[in-house]
Amino acid sequence: MKQEGYYDDFGGVFVPSLLSERFNQKGYYNEFGGAFVPEVLTATFDELNIAFDEAKKDPQFWKDYANILQNYSCRPTPLTFAENLTRHFGGASIYIKREDLNHTGAHKANNVLGQGLIVKRMGKQRVIAETGAGQHGVATATMAAKFGLDCTIYMGEVDVERQRPNVFWMERLGAEVIAVRDGTRILKDAINAAFRDWVTNMDTTHYVLGTACGPHPFPEMVSTFQSIIGFEARRQILSQVNQLPKRVYACVGGGSNALGIFLGFVNDPDVELIGVEAGGKGLNTGYHASRLCSEDASVGIAQGYKTFFLQNTDGQMRETHSVAAGLDYIGVSPILSSFHRSGRIHFTAATDTEVIDALTLAVQKEGLIPALESSHAFVQAFKDAPHLSKHDCIIINQSGRGDKDIFTIADAFDDPKWKSFIKEKAEAYHA
Ligand SMILES: *Cc1c(COP(=O)(O)O)cnc(C)c1O
Repeated sequence: MKQEGYYDDFGGVFVPSLLSERFNQKGYYNEFGGAFVPEVLTATFDELNIAFDEAKKDPQFWKDYANILQNYSCRPTPLTFAENLTRHFGGASIYIKREDLNHTGAHKANNVLGQGLIVKRMGKQRVIAETGAGQHGVATATMAAKFGLDCTIYMGEVDVERQRPNVFWMERLGAEVIAVRDGTRILKDAINAAFRDWVTNMDTTHYVLGTACGPHPFPEMVSTFQSIIGFEARRQILSQVNQLPKRVYACVGGGSNALGIFLGFVNDPDVELIGVEAGGKGLNTGYHASRLCSEDASVGIAQGYKTFFLQNTDGQMRETHSVAAGLDYIGVSPILSSFHRSGRIHFTAATDTEVIDALTLAVQKEGLIPALESSHAFVQAFKDAPHLSKHDCIIINQSGRGDKDIFTIADAFDDPKWKSFIKEKAEAYHA
């Protein structure tokens, strides 16, 4: 696939990583994946599959994709050498892939802008999305504003209460935010509500799924759009140090930023790929969101696909916990489950306390402000770096920026000046 113009800095043009060439059966990643959708949605999924298959083969599509990412969302994002952290740990050279510099502050822009272009191809006028922490909702509402689409965001009522700043921005961006009152009023209930909306409005509406999960083609489509991260990172590390990294680290919620960077290196057998899940209060406490490296998850079919889910023995979904709202997810990408089974990607977990410590170090040593989600990847990289050779380099994917986490982080530090600031604000409203 050859096009002109884009990414000449890297001596080439963006070539998406095509997963379909790796796995035999469409929509399946060995035993994982599939599309278990209600019959009424079959035609809609067919339409989406055709639109994506055609887009994949269309050079103009990838040109438009690269163009909007370059001119609207700050791509290519830099690969930053963290020299102070490298000196601090005294082992491998540490490089950071800066997805925090995307518009709206995270890698999510790569996915929503790509799906926005698919929506235009299908000629639909409305998008819907689910959101937990609100980041995917803000990204989708931003894309809808830019592309002139109507937008409805489903969010559990509990999350609406917890994430007021994101709800505020979605509404300013012109989206309608619907607080879902079913079930436990969190992300999984929002997903169900979004599917119900889709069934009713499928002629006009596209469901912008936020991560590499859900029924086919979503896992493939989302990770294909995110593969721009790894495509850039591989070229950047080769041009900066003239060698491939020893290890690449990424945090794992649904799995989209991890697949995005890993797909750039998956065909390099010497590059070790490490996904870091939310260890919460510890893997043996029950308060975590780890599906691939804890005993609390098992393979099942839910929300339209087959993967590892955090569920109890009779298939009831368990509660999840993480200091990082974006990693609080009961399922995980079927593509990651497959790479976990084959051993190509290794998974580990970081606890909430370790995450706050790693974040503190990254802020103080490098002036970086990684999101709490991204800080999970930093934890494992910081554990490993001192034991690696000075001749090695490693890459950490900084999936997003931490400004959004100010309330959580200020709480973790129990900052008295912050508390009195909030208290005075509240009192001013009551006066
Ligand atoms: C949403 C989010 C994640 C988790 O989603 P993945 O699909 O696992 O990438 C991670 N980091 C940031 C900053 C996020 O906003």
